[in-house]
Amino acid sequence: MQLQKSGKVHYFSSQLLAAPGISAQGFTTRHEGVSRPPYNSLNLGLSTQDSCHSVEGNRSLLARAFGTRLERLVSVTQVHGADLLVLDEPNEDFSHFQKLECDGIVTNQPGVMIGICVADCVPILLLDPVKRVIAALHAGWKGTAQGIARKGVDAMVTVFDSDPSTILASIGPAIGPCCYEVDAPVAEAFRTGTIPFESIAKASGPGKWRLDLTEANRNQLFRAGLEEKNVEASSLCVSCEKDLFFSYRRDKGETGRQMGFIMLQD
Ligand SMILES: [Zn+2]
Repeated sequence: MQLQKSGKVHYFSSQLLAAPGISAQGFTTRHEGVSRPPYNSLNLGLSTQDSCHSVEGNRSLLARAFGTRLERLVSVTQVHGADLLVLDEPNEDFSHFQKLECDGIVTNQPGVMIGICVADCVPILLLDPVKRVIAALHAGWKGTAQGIARKGVDAMVTVFDSDPSTILASIGPAIGPCCYEVDAPVAEAFRTGTIPFESIAKASGPGKWRLDLTEANRNQLFRAGLEEKNVEASSLCVSCEKDLFFSYRRDKGETGRQMGFIMLQD
C-alpha cells in the first residue's frame, strides 16, 4: 500500500486493486480536511459530534478528488452488524441511503463511490475486475464475528455472478493487536464462529487477549474462496499512527473517521 495524493486528499491506495480504467480506491488519512480538533482534519464520519458542515465539506473534497460529486458518494449508518446494501440500479442521488442501517455496500454501478467510515475497525474493499463489481465493508469485532467479509463475497457471487477466485481484496489500516486488548465477551463471540480464536488472538492476562482483527478478516476471505495472492492487508496500526489516522480507543471516542472508498470508473 502506498501513500498517494489526489486533489487535496492524502490516502493509501492498494497496488493490488489498482486497475487503471476500472476502479479508483483507497483509505483516507486525517490530513488536509477542514474539521477542527479533535476532528482534525479530514473527518468523513457523519456520526461524530463534528459540525455537519465540516463533514460535508470533507466528503465533497473526497468526491471531487476522484471526479465524482457528493450525491454519488454512498455511505450508510453503520451498526456493527453484517447486513449489506446492494445497489444494482442507476440513481441520481444516493444520499438517502445514509440513514439505512447496515455495514457493507456492494455495487456494479460505475461512477458511484461507496465508502465505509472507521476509526479502529477494519475497512475492507473488494473488486471483481471481471464482472466489474465492488464492495466496501465495515468489520469491527462484532461484524467480523458475524462474518461480514464472507457475506460481502457471498453477495458478489449470488447477485452479480462473481467467481471468488477472481475477486481482489484490500484490508485497510485498522487497530493492530499491539493496541487492541479485548475481554471475555469478545472471545466468546469468536468461539462460536468457524475461525479458531487461538489463531487470531494471544492471551495477554487473565480474561484478556490481544485480538488481530485484520488476520481474522484475511482468514475469512480465504475461507470464502479468495486466493492468497489476491488478498492484501495494511500493516499500519491506526492507534500507533497518530499523525495519520483517527483512533476511537486512543482518542477516547472524541475523534473523527477515515474512510475506505472504492468506485468503478465509467
Ligand atoms: Zn498499535
